[in-house]
Parts: sequence; C-alpha cells; structure tokens
Amino acid sequence: MIESSIFKMIIDAREAYYNSGHPIMSDQEYDSLIEMVKASEPDHPILSKIGHTPSSMWKKASHNMPMGSLEKVNTEEEFRKWASKYPSQRFILEYKLDGLSVSLDYKDGQLVRGVTRGDGLEGEDITPNVLRMRDVVKTISGFSGSIRAEIVLSKHEFNRINMSLPEKDRYSNTRNAAAGICRRLDGLYCDYLYVIAHDLMGPHDEDRKIVILRDWGFMTACSKESWVGDIETIIKGYNETKAIRKSLPMDIDGMVVKVVSRDVQEKAGFTAKKPKAQTAWKFDAPSCASTLQKTTWELGRTGVLTPVGHIDPVTIDGSVIRKVTLHNIAEIKRLGIGIGDLVVVAKMNDVIPKILSVIEHRNNPIDIPTLCPICSTELINDDIRLMCPNDFCVAKEYNRILHWIKSMVIDQFGEALLDVLYESGKVRHIKDLYALKDLDISSLEGWGEQSAGTIIGNIQKSLETTETRVLAALGIPTISDRTAEELIKVFGSIKDLMGVSRDQIASLKGFSDISADKIILGLTKYGPELIELVQLIKKPLQQSSNGILFGKSFCFTGAMEHPRPYYQGLVTENGGKNLSSVTKDLNYLVCNEDKGSTKSQKAAKYGIKIINEKEFLGMIGSMVQELIVAPEPEKGPQFELPSLFQ
Ligand SMILES: [Zn+2]
Repeated sequence: MIESSIFKMIIDAREAYYNSGHPIMSDQEYDSLIEMVKASEPDHPILSKIGHTPSSMWKKASHNMPMGSLEKVNTEEEFRKWASKYPSQRFILEYKLDGLSVSLDYKDGQLVRGVTRGDGLEGEDITPNVLRMRDVVKTISGFSGSIRAEIVLSKHEFNRINMSLPEKDRYSNTRNAAAGICRRLDGLYCDYLYVIAHDLMGPHDEDRKIVILRDWGFMTACSKESWVGDIETIIKGYNETKAIRKSLPMDIDGMVVKVVSRDVQEKAGFTAKKPKAQTAWKFDAPSCASTLQKTTWELGRTGVLTPVGHIDPVTIDGSVIRKVTLHNIAEIKRLGIGIGDLVVVAKMNDVIPKILSVIEHRNNPIDIPTLCPICSTELINDDIRLMCPNDFCVAKEYNRILHWIKSMVIDQFGEALLDVLYESGKVRHIKDLYALKDLDISSLEGWGEQSAGTIIGNIQKSLETTETRVLAALGIPTISDRTAEELIKVFGSIKDLMGVSRDQIASLKGFSDISADKIILGLTKYGPELIELVQLIKKPLQQSSNGILFGKSFCFTGAMEHPRPYYQGLVTENGGKNLSSVTKDLNYLVCNEDKGSTKSQKAAKYGIKIINEKEFLGMIGSMVQELIVAPEPEKGPQFELPSLFQ
C-alpha cells in the first residue's frame, strides 16, 4: 500500500510544477513516484490524471479531442519490445521537446483558440498569449481543425530572461519558464516562446503530417525525411541525438517514436487516451521511488567498507531491486540520506542500482561505524571512505582468495568450501590453494574422494595461464583485466613490471598519477606473493617466440610520433622485450634526438646500439605499414541530424 502522503506529494508537485512555474522536485523524482504508484496500485485514479488542474487565472476550455500523453520506454530493450509489435513498419523519430503542450484550434482558416493540455480533457484558454508567440501560424487557408504543438523556450532566451529577474524569481529550467511565461496574465516574455508543431489531427500518415505542417509555415519537432526509418535507424538516431542533446538549442528529455502508417496506428488502438503505436523514449535512466530501510557495510578485498542500502523492493526495467550501493560516506553526505527516507532508485547503464536523490527526509541519519565489523580495528575515515587498515583483517585476505578463485575460474570451488578451508587454517593465502592435497578436501564433511580429486584438478588447471591473468586476479587496487593486459603488454612481464617507476606507469594512456600510486603500492605489498605465483604457472607469458624481434630488448626515450605504449606494444607483438631503463642487457635504445640525453650517454658508454624511430619501424618492416595506415572511414547510410531552426 502506498502511504497517503505520497499522493499528496504528487498532487503538490503537479501544482507547483504547472501553476507556480517553480517546481518542488525534479522530473525524475516525480516520474519515480508515479512508477511507484503504478507498481502497487495500477488502477489508482491519480494515474489517469495527467498534467494538472488549471489554476483559476485563465478561462477553462474543453479540448475538441482529448490530449493524451505518451507511454514511456526507458531502455533499448523496452524500445525494441515496443517496436517489435509493429514488424516491418516504418517509424518516425521526433524530438521530445521539453515544454508545455498546447492545442491550436482553427476555424475557417483562422487560429481561434490556444488551449494548454491541462488534465487532458480540459485546459486553459491562453489564446491571447499564444498569438504573441514566435512562429505561430495564425491563418491557414481553408483549414478547420486542431494542431498539437509544444511551447518551448530556447536555452539562450531562458538565460536572458533569468538574468533579468531577481534571484528569487528565477526559473529553474526552460520548461518551467515556458509553463510560467505562457500563462502570465500580462503576456510578458510570450514573444520569447516558440511554438513547435508535432501533430495534425487528421487521417494522414505521420511523415505526410510533417510535410503539411511545414508547408503551412510551422516549425516541427522533426524536420527531415531521413528521420523516418526502420527500428535500427531509429535506435541509431536516438543514440546520436542523446549524445549531442546538450548542444541543441532547446531542451529535450527524450525522443518520440511513432509508427508512420495512420492505418496501423488506428488498428493498434489506444490505452487511456494514449495511442499505442506512439511512444516516448526517455533519456533518463529508469527509476522508481522506494524507502531506505537500513544500511549494512561490506568489507571489500581492498579494505574499503562500502555502505549498502536495503530498500523496499521495487521493480525497475524488469528486475526486482532490494539493495543499492551508497558508494561511500561522501555520497551519504552528499545525498543527506537517512533511514526511512523516500528515495529515487535508478539503474544506471545496467550497473549496480544506486540512489539518485532523496525526495523526502525523515531525519534519521545513518550510523557510520568506527570499528571494522570483521576485526574490530579502528577504521580510517578520510571523510570520503572508510577503510580497515589491518592488513591481516580476515575479510580482506579471505576476499582476496575468493577473488582469485573467481578470476581464475576454478570450477566447483565455492564460498562454502573456502569457508571451511579458511576456518581450519589450511588456506590463508592464495598460494596455499596450490599446496592443497586430495586428502585436505576429501576429509571434510560432505566431500568424497572423487569430488576432492576434481577440485584439486581444477585448482592445478588454473595454473595453465598467463602472467596477465595472474596480475589481474591478485586483487591489487585499480588493476583490472584491462589494466593488467596493458601493463604486461608495455613492460613485458611481471618481473619487469616490478622494476618500473610510478612515473612510467602514470605516463601510460589511461593511467593517472593516483592509479599509478596505487599500483606501485600494491606491487610493493603483494610483490613477493606475485613472484611466487608466477613461478607456479605452467605456461609463461604468451610472447611470440618466432617474432622478428625475439631475443632483442628495447628501451624508448624522448619524443616520438606516437605515444610510447604504441612502440612498446609493437616490440611485444613481435616477440621482443621492453626495458624501462638502460642496462647492460639492453640491445637497442630507440631515440629520435641527438645523443644528448642521459639515457643515450649511458647507452653509448655500454656500447648499446642507438637507433631512431624510423630505424626501429624499419626493423619490423611491412607489419608497420599495416599498423600505421589509418582505417578507412566507415561507409554507410548517413543519418542526418536536423537543426531545429531550418
Ligand atoms: Zn578489519
């Protein structure tokens, strides 16, 4: 059951939003409350009311035809599901302009009435103001009927108006400004507003409607025929627009997709005034409101405690969500979040769900622990994160082993088995796994000889691996599969990696000073363990032993055409070895400058061959040609993005 205060909140939000022009919550907060009601009381009358009940300033007017809003989809998956109901149909893609909907009614060629959407059946007659707006077509020869349009304010005009207002009266966004201005009794600023048409009430196909509206002189919410296409074209257009939407002159909060064929639309029918064959594909991440019940703290393998929020279960994008990440204490402070708060939960890019904002505070702050929940050591609180400084903290080491087991994909080795082995002291470090004997497992309750043998076999099998996998599986902060691959690619091996400096790592593409510090710290701390594990592996680094550079070592210094990792990658690919400094073992120093640098002096002293970039590339011959030729630009149908003001 939904608390009655929620309904009041929705009504207050609508009132503030439409009637004062000064909203009390964000669109996403409002939408998430609606989602919450939909999920538990889908027939609640509050859902059938869209828009607002007009305030009394303007005369009320009934619409000739109800003005519905569109059903929404939030994700590509939802969009595809919707679109799949209309196989082999063409669709039209339009901007979902962030403004105020209006119905323009014409009689015998004259614009006689402009009525806001209101609650869909009845709105406000703001005709005098509409007549002042830009791009309103006041006469259409011989036309009687209705045109649906959006009243919008450009970002540019929004700023100009806001700058002229005292701070307390400023509008919070373009849509609220448009809604506020178009309903001013004095008509002030109405000439700043644009009217952009998006529908013509009539029997035409959608693409035809756009042509007619444009012929009549309207700006439209889509302006080129290339905006009509199949599902894939529409998805491409959606993604492209989403990427550049910040640079558009108008605010948009999504795209509208309609089946082009009017016949198909008619056949599809309507749900509660909403045409089924039209949908609004929003840009916001799917979200729903919920209540924070409690928080727990999970200790990760790096010793950082992560707060986890437990919420009343909600369904977002088809999956039930009970837990959300609160990231860290800085995030808790930023949100000002407490137990019992009404919150917006969203799934961002399909990662772990998070809390976007708090709609209502209940002033019951979250307890921040001071002691490690596992080892009771006093935690370090740097105002951003909580950390257990105890290197021997049970959970930390345990989690590192578990991380290893998962990363190395040791089949059938689950948490339950690790629990027992850890408790008994048989496995306290990663390397202990490789000292396990059949008997260590078969003697455990519930394990037979055969299954023990399988597990031991799987553990041993995990040693047939590469140094990259070992490095990634060790659980050093910031070293992921990708970074491990890059580090091994550039520096050659784990042994070589041990000798590199922080600056050498920080200079690589995709690495920062901070991540370099963490990597060096991790390598120092776990280095001996890492070396021990590397010695265990059966298949050494997959370095091409028949490469053209096999047995040769290289060190690069000074400015070059491409970033250094590029050349180091070429060395590895061709079976050679990268050295970070000039030692006696070095075969070639690659250097473009004259022999002035410390490295070249040192190389000269050792009698090491100094070559330039060109000579190096020459050593690998034709392969280079292939690599340095830029790929041809992709060819294919161009999907043009129309300007709104053509
Ligand atoms: Zn601890």
